[in-house]
Amino acid sequence: MKLVVKKDRCPQNHPCPSIRVCPVNALKQKGYSAPEVDQEVCIKCGKCVKYCPMKALVLE
Ligand code: SF4
Repeated sequence: MKLVVKKDRCPQNHPCPSIRVCPVNALKQKGYSAPEVDQEVCIKCGKCVKYCPMKALVLE
């Protein structure tokens, strides 16, 4: 299982709110593009998954 960013679900027009809820700072965003996850840092806690209103972050 790993965190997958569904870029087609992200409108990519705003600062990603899920970045702030990640306890280990595994999400990074360049400009307003869809966030990218550092798989080596992510602990698969699922917090960002619950927080993203577009369901663009998925643990699968
Ligand atoms: S699953 Fe948890 S650790 Fe991984 S990116 Fe999301 S909030 Fe951060």
